[in-house]
Amino acid sequence: MPAQCSSCTEKRAVLKRPKTGHSLCKECFFWAFEEEVHQTIVAAELFKSGETVGIAASGGKDSTVLAHVMKLLNERYSYGLELMLISVDEGITGYRDDSLETVKRNQQQYELPLKIVSYEELYGWTMDAIVKQVGLKNNCTFCGVFRRQALDRGAVMLKVDKICTGHNADDVAETVLMNVLRGDIARLRRCTAISTSSEGEGVVPRCKPLKYAYEKEIVLYAYFKKLDYFSTECIYSPNAYRGYARTFLKDLESIRPSTIMDIIHSGENLSVREGVKMPVQGTCSRCGYISSQALCKSCVLLEGLNRGLPKLGIGKHHRLHDKILSQQPLTEKEERKLKSVDF
Ligand code: SF4
Ligand code: ZN
Repeated sequence: MPAQCSSCTEKRAVLKRPKTGHSLCKECFFWAFEEEVHQTIVAAELFKSGETVGIAASGGKDSTVLAHVMKLLNERYSYGLELMLISVDEGITGYRDDSLETVKRNQQQYELPLKIVSYEELYGWTMDAIVKQVGLKNNCTFCGVFRRQALDRGAVMLKVDKICTGHNADDVAETVLMNVLRGDIARLRRCTAISTSSEGEGVVPRCKPLKYAYEKEIVLYAYFKKLDYFSTECIYSPNAYRGYARTFLKDLESIRPSTIMDIIHSGENLSVREGVKMPVQGTCSRCGYISSQALCKSCVLLEGLNRGLPKLGIGKHHRLHDKILSQQPLTEKEERKLKSVDF
């Protein structure tokens, strides 16, 4: 590594930027990283002065860096935003309880208000209890669907105008890849968007200020800034499909460093042929949340949990929705199919 920072040419370089290959000193790296996030925010017009913005905070490196940089840029460039932290407590003993302690320290360090919404309070189920019933194969489906809605509910309670999440470039590239592999056209179209507008009642617009930040740089930023974050993996993390996509991406990246940006650009530029059927967005007839079916995914999963039929929301059981809504009994065969659990 060369002794000198290639930007200020004064101080000693301490790192080579994964994104550009430049050798930089700590200060020049901080500046470059923060400026790029600022450019992303400005170019995509993510915020308007006077808005209240909820930062989805998990205590992990991405959301901790996001909270730190958002506070810093809000002051440096007078964005005029009121910032808050919103955390979701999934009820995972030995994981989320510890990471929430980190969020509480962040709240003190950054002097931002914090709201914690829990699965137990919203749905009557913790992830610990859900895993006991559904096993370790589909648990992340429950968790992901519930989290999306929980964040919206927290945001509505706090009356925020927008939520920003810590999704980074690696996350977006992984998601593009997964949606291509699954042939999920509707998600593929949405997943590269840097911001989503409100899709309906109770759905708060979201944006990703770290969309173009590499995970490796986020780790370096957090490390050199000595940020207080939590780095343990979830104890129920079998998310095998994303894991494969991630490993595949890392392998490609080691041969071609621009892979992550290339995949994001591919995703951004794909267009869906005219006439391809897209799900029509409506509202859930039970809870009013957005849904392309009679019942939203959250309500179906919850119904399955409460009835002891954990498979109800896994896979396509749309034709059963009417039965559920009208409280009709299921046939024996249907019950059997929906009861089987994979541990
Ligand atoms: Fe939830 Fe799965 Fe993430 Fe754990 S790994 S927090 S269970 S989505
Ligand atoms: Zn619903």
